[in-house]
Order: sequence, then C-alpha cells, then structure tokens
Amino acid sequence: MRTWLSNVFRAAATLGAGMHVTLRTFVQSYRRRAFTEHFEYPERPVPVRPRYRGFHRYDLTTCIGCDKCARACPVDCIYIGKEKAAPPLKGFVVTGFAIDYTKCMFCALCVDPCPVDCIFMGSNHDISTYTRDGCVVDYAKLPLEVAWGQATLNPTAVHESKRVALPVWTKAGEPSKT
Ligand code: SF4
Ligand code: SF4
Repeated sequence: MRTWLSNVFRAAATLGAGMHVTLRTFVQSYRRRAFTEHFEYPERPVPVRPRYRGFHRYDLTTCIGCDKCARACPVDCIYIGKEKAAPPLKGFVVTGFAIDYTKCMFCALCVDPCPVDCIFMGSNHDISTYTRDGCVVDYAKLPLEVAWGQATLNPTAVHESKRVALPVWTKAGEPSKT
C-alpha cells in the first residue's frame, strides 16, 4: 500500500512539473506576442541597421550613364543601356539599368564611384521570385518611387516592369530650355 501511494504521488508530482513548464511558456508567449504581431511581415518590413546593404536604390533622373558603377562591380552584374541625347541636350539618355541579383553579392563597391550619388544600397532584403528572370531588375523600367523610394522594391513591381519596353523617364521628353 505504501509503495502504491508513493507511485501515485510521484506520478502526480511529475505531471505537475510538466504542466508548470507548459503553463509558464504559454504565459510568456502570450505576454511577448507572436513574431508576426511585432513586424507584420511582409506588409511592414523588418527593421534593419542603418548601414544594412539590401537591394539597391537607383535614381534614373540623376544618372548620367558614366558606367563607373558597372566598371567597379567585381562580378560584372550591372548592365547599362544608353543612347546619345538628342540636341540641344548633351550626354546620354539611360535606356536601361539592370542589375542581375543572381550574381550581385551586395558588396556596395558600385556605390562609392558614382559622381552624382544616384545609387545606394537600400534596406530591402526580400525579392522572392518564381523564375531567375525575376532576379534581373531593370531600374530604368520601374516607377521612380519604387526604384528610388526606400523599402519599396517588391516582386510585383519587378514583374510589371518586365512588360515595359521604354525607360520610365527620358531626357529626350523634356522641353528645351533654350
Ligand atoms: S553591390 Fe557589389 S556585386 Fe552588387 S552590383 Fe554593386 S558592385 Fe556589383
Ligand atoms: S556611376 Fe552613377 S551616374 Fe554613373 S552610370 Fe552608375 S549610377 Fe549612373
């Protein structure tokens, strides 16, 4: 009888100890709230450090097509298309500015040589796609607020840009100032 009572007591104590751990974890996770409640990803981007090197931001309206970024890239993954600007304008009209993210290693070596500061590393870290073609982003075909705006590059916009034949903005379209 004494052994039986002892076994019952130990079983109840073990069960109580297990339930205590379960209950403590439940209360902690209830207080802490789920990860998705903190960040609401992907609707709201996860906070990153100020010097985080994510997908680029690029301003087509400032770029002069000098090729310095493409030459600085150690893996040759920047492809720039350009044409001579029609007179009276000088320089080039940038018709394409594609970066192949299957090759890019986010080293930021393309940022420093830019003489007009129109390319930066952004804070986006996610551009999931179903095809490799989706990894080639032509910033000249993206709406400016997506290409230059912070944390707005997204797979839907990249997919839409594949249908665009001409760059979204060209200097040839500007009225002459003379
Ligand atoms: S971050 Fe580095 S690898 Fe990527 S495009 Fe710029 S220079 Fe090339
Ligand atoms: S270095 Fe700057 S201005 Fe020159 S092509 Fe690259 S992004 Fe454009």
